[in-house]
Amino acid sequence: MSLWLDGASRSYPPLAGDESADVAVVGAGIAGIATAYFLAAAGASVIVLEARGVAEAASGRNAGFLLAGVAENFVAAAHRYGEQGALRIWRFTRRTQWLVRALVEEHDIDCALRWNGSDQIAGDDGEWREIEASARRLSSEGVGVSVDAPARSATYVEDGELHPVRWVRGLAAAAVKKGARIHESTRVIGVGPGEARTATGVVRAGAIVLCTNAYTARLAPSRVRPVRGQMLATAPAPRVFARPAYANRGYRYWRQTSDGRVLVGGWRDTAVDEEVGEEERTTEAIQTQLEAFLRQHRVSAPVTHRWAGTMGFSHDALPYIGRIAEGTFVCGGFTGHGMAFGPASAELVATLVRGATHPDADLFDPSR
Ligand SMILES: Cc1cc2nc3c(=O)[nH]c(=O)nc-3n(C[C@H](O)[C@H](O)[C@H](O)COP(=O)(O)OP(=O)(O)OC[C@H]3O[C@@H](n4cnc5c(N)ncnc54)[C@H](O)[C@@H]3O)c2cc1C
Repeated sequence: MSLWLDGASRSYPPLAGDESADVAVVGAGIAGIATAYFLAAAGASVIVLEARGVAEAASGRNAGFLLAGVAENFVAAAHRYGEQGALRIWRFTRRTQWLVRALVEEHDIDCALRWNGSDQIAGDDGEWREIEASARRLSSEGVGVSVDAPARSATYVEDGELHPVRWVRGLAAAAVKKGARIHESTRVIGVGPGEARTATGVVRAGAIVLCTNAYTARLAPSRVRPVRGQMLATAPAPRVFARPAYANRGYRYWRQTSDGRVLVGGWRDTAVDEEVGEEERTTEAIQTQLEAFLRQHRVSAPVTHRWAGTMGFSHDALPYIGRIAEGTFVCGGFTGHGMAFGPASAELVATLVRGATHPDADLFDPSR
């Protein structure tokens, strides 16, 4: 059971009968809830349909890091997306950080948000050279970053961390205040032009937005593929880690919450073929390595929580955001970075749904 979902219960009724709205959003993770929020804030009537509960899938099972950029360091990202593309992606995730700060403040969302920065730590010599060069390059763009050569790490001072379930549920409450309707325990079994069908009713809407991430291919043609991530959390322990850390090209990560719990996740690179599919189960192979990390860092507090979550990976590690058919939009495929990409992506898709243009639409065009 995810640390964040421990003790959390559902708050919204299932769909009972047919309803209509300007927009139906399928999925109530960070992407769906933020999309509903932005659309409702712009005056649209919105219905959110969620098979489980708000933030019960990946959005309630992550590490809660709010990092800028993609999983890889900036030099690797520039190699992949071009220098200008990598800079635009960086600024897009910075937009999420700005949105989180503003929305948490505006709606007084109690989600343990902290801006202590994050450490990016090299796993080998090649990665260290890239991390150092990335820090130099981003520093020339005004990014707050310092390098610790002996530790082979760079600290990005503007990064943040939060309690993901309290954040998404807080934003859901804010969306409801703006007029959005949320139905939990309501699985969409099919979507067609202008409608989302469930076992208990049909929602008719001018636009449907699929915020179903790893599960998108069940409802529409999609290249998003499900990939598993695992974590564990300990009981409160004396402080060992000052801020969230991201190592070995993002394959290993850890943080310590303000009450001292140590959270460790990742090591998927040691079992790439097994860590796929929708099954949210922990495995001994991965959990043993997470525990070994605790021992290496002399964390002796007992493990209280172990969990797995299903991420939606895209073909190039960038989300798919935009229209996929007449009246149907998608916002997903965050490749393990949806807390960082989600709110800015939701703002983008909400803009497109309203018929306007967005300067970053080309970057994330689902047909690219
Ligand atoms: C272990 C782990 C650690 C991670 N750490 C981080 C991190 O530190 N920082 C970061 O940025 N990202 C992290 N991520 C990734 C992040 O959690 C995801 O990218 C993000 O939560 C995706 O949000 P989402 O709303 O797109 O998807 P989800 O949260 O998966 O939400 C999709 C929702 O759609 C619903 N749904 C699906 N099909 C249907 C249907 N037919 N009808 C109705 N509802 C449906 C699902 O029930 C689900 O609630 C991590 C992920 C994992 C697993």
